[in-house]
Amino acid sequence: MEPTEAMQTHENSQLIRRGVLVRGVVQGVGFRPFVYRLATEEGLSGFIGNDTDGVTLEIEGSAMRVEAFLTRLSTDAPPLARIDSIAVRELTTNGETGFRIVASEILGRVSTGIPADAATCVDCLRELMDAGDRRYRYPFLNCTNCGPRFTITRSIPYDRPQTSMADFRMCAACQAEYDDPLNRRFHAQPNACWDCGPRVWMVGVDGVAMDAGDAVDACVNRLVAGEIMAIKGVGGFHLSVDATNEAAVARLRERKQRYGKPLAVMVKDVDAARAVCVLTVEDETPLMTWARPIVLARKKESCGIAEGVAPGVPWLGVFLPYAPLQHLLFASGQVKALVMTSANLSEEPIAIDNDEARERLSGIADAFLMHDREILQRCDDSVAAVVDGAPQLLRRARGYVPLGVELARGSQLEAVPLLAVGGHLKNVFALAQGRMVYQSQHLGDLESLTGLEFFKESLAHLMRTFEIEPETVVHDLHPGYLSTTWAKEWAGERGLKAIAVQHHHAHVAGCMAEHGVTGPVIGLALDGTGFGTNGHIWGGEVLITRLDGFERWAHLQYVPMPGGDAAVKEPWRMALGALHAAGFDVESEQIVKLLGAQASEVRVMKRMIQREINSPMTSSLGRLFDAVAAVVLNRRVVDYEAQAAIELEGIAVDEPDRIEQGAYWPELHSGEDGSDGVAVIKTGKMWKAVLEDMWRGVPARRISARFHAGVVEGFINAAGNARIETDINIIALSGGCMHNRRLVRLLRAGLEEEGFEVLQHRRVSPGDGGLSYGQAAVAAAMMGKSELAGEAN
Ligand SMILES: [Zn+2]
Ligand SMILES: [Zn+2]
Ligand SMILES: [Zn+2]
Repeated sequence: MEPTEAMQTHENSQLIRRGVLVRGVVQGVGFRPFVYRLATEEGLSGFIGNDTDGVTLEIEGSAMRVEAFLTRLSTDAPPLARIDSIAVRELTTNGETGFRIVASEILGRVSTGIPADAATCVDCLRELMDAGDRRYRYPFLNCTNCGPRFTITRSIPYDRPQTSMADFRMCAACQAEYDDPLNRRFHAQPNACWDCGPRVWMVGVDGVAMDAGDAVDACVNRLVAGEIMAIKGVGGFHLSVDATNEAAVARLRERKQRYGKPLAVMVKDVDAARAVCVLTVEDETPLMTWARPIVLARKKESCGIAEGVAPGVPWLGVFLPYAPLQHLLFASGQVKALVMTSANLSEEPIAIDNDEARERLSGIADAFLMHDREILQRCDDSVAAVVDGAPQLLRRARGYVPLGVELARGSQLEAVPLLAVGGHLKNVFALAQGRMVYQSQHLGDLESLTGLEFFKESLAHLMRTFEIEPETVVHDLHPGYLSTTWAKEWAGERGLKAIAVQHHHAHVAGCMAEHGVTGPVIGLALDGTGFGTNGHIWGGEVLITRLDGFERWAHLQYVPMPGGDAAVKEPWRMALGALHAAGFDVESEQIVKLLGAQASEVRVMKRMIQREINSPMTSSLGRLFDAVAAVVLNRRVVDYEAQAAIELEGIAVDEPDRIEQGAYWPELHSGEDGSDGVAVIKTGKMWKAVLEDMWRGVPARRISARFHAGVVEGFINAAGNARIETDINIIALSGGCMHNRRLVRLLRAGLEEEGFEVLQHRRVSPGDGGLSYGQAAVAAAMMGKSELAGEAN
């Protein structure tokens, strides 16, 4: 209800003045014009400006109006703003009239924040499709509520001269919008139009621009004809084909040398997404956020999407257009669904520069849709999935970077300026200072020099952006990771402290820190592989974890990995190692057949294991999944990491969660395996049950469901025993296996049934993409502790 004059008491109409400091993502997102409108509507006087820490403002008016203003400040904030805190202080009134937006410089240094890239808003979309609008079909329109940010920024402050829009001089019409506090484009840094902004064109593989009339239409026609297009986007180039064209998809895979890994599909809008996927309300939430991540959802039968897009799995990675150029591709209705995959050879950094793209992609693409707005920061698409009813980020990149995630909210934890370099595969580093951790975009595998270059380039940029000069460098315990050697070297050159954090400690700590929990908790680190403190390769761990330390309480039985990393690419080797460890005669005819191997190669592997030649021992659950999948799905080799495990999850998608009988219960043994009193979850009986079922002709999907149920039961038992001894009732779930939705769902349900409080990752990836966040939390806690100890002395 609108307050009337009569309702105002004397006290309410008394004039007051307040100073307000708003922290969070409040710059470059239309916050100042929003406050200007709000103050004007409430009849308040005062001013607003950007400040080092956010925005600062003063307001003066009746107590009631000031109260209303302060409430609406958070409830009505613009969509891209994220308010972390609002601090209000009392000031004396000075009779000021009118409300002003003051220039940043007047209030001192401009803040460091750069917002994340945001999808085209509905207002801009309406203009894009409106034949009467001056920006009709303009591929780069945007406003303060939408458009590129992080990817076009060279340096701070986030102002046009520091972006790749610096080369484009605004026309009078655009400038007028930019200068008007009440305009939707007030200080929209990438503001542009047909007259003054970037443009698109088509280029052939020979580098010659094609005069093809409307470049977007020409691109669509070629897609319809089955050609492969390289399309420049927001964070890099995409390779695109018509997702309903089987032959085109096959050709793309062939040329990109990417055979098994699912390809993401972009569709026009949420209705089109519903036509190809079974979408729950929960699925639609991440699909439609400003960040527009790829969302993994159940593929519909005979939905028209080519089989080759996501072979062997029941899910499809689907996402919606987030740039005007992408909306235009769908505008004519000629294409229903487009494969949009990062333009790179597998796990190399995504191509961003026009010349670089032509050089690297000319063997893959038939033609290029280019534009001249430079991409300054590479950024892949983010990936999300609804896990157990809530969205979880699996890959945090475009739309989320460089937004920070708080470090152990609600605790006293604060980080000295530090760099956490993450792991080896799917690398993401993090910069932390005080209460915030800023993770980099997904950088891919740090195996090659190009990967390391991308790492360095992104590090330099984010250090500038956040003005964080690390005093400590945190790395994984693995001595062989490129990230570890680089971190030690970098720290050495600068005389910085270097801290090694065990891989699974970092995983669990990350989950704890997301929830503001410092421990101790019972951590389940169910993962691919990570270097353990005893030199073995861990990954099926029950760890009693505090942020500043952990104790290994139980682990999955060790099995050999014949050939080391080769066993990751060839899961049949993992199966051989696991069956050998479980006491089977792997040279028997039955097992050799089961492994789909030659008797001679089995003999070689067995000898390697017996002589302990290049056969490291691992307790990894991810590798156990690989091994079971190799046998059950007859998957000898894989094209990408964890493919067999993912297919094993996929095949059970329609099996009931509850396995009343026939689950393969592993056995929990205390203090065996010669490993310093640590309990072991033995898998021998489980393997026996798997093989018996196979020989009895039980379908693979049922075996998979029973295996999942058994694994879950094994870890719940271990957690239960840990609780009896430690009295800890909180469980944190982390590690790459948390991408397995069946596993997570069963684990949480089972643990909650046992009365545990269960913590899961939400904003940070549970896989190695989240590792650096956890490393930062561990380092902050360790250093906080040593400081306290120092004070006590
Ligand atoms: Zn907009
Ligand atoms: Zn213009
Ligand atoms: Zn890991």
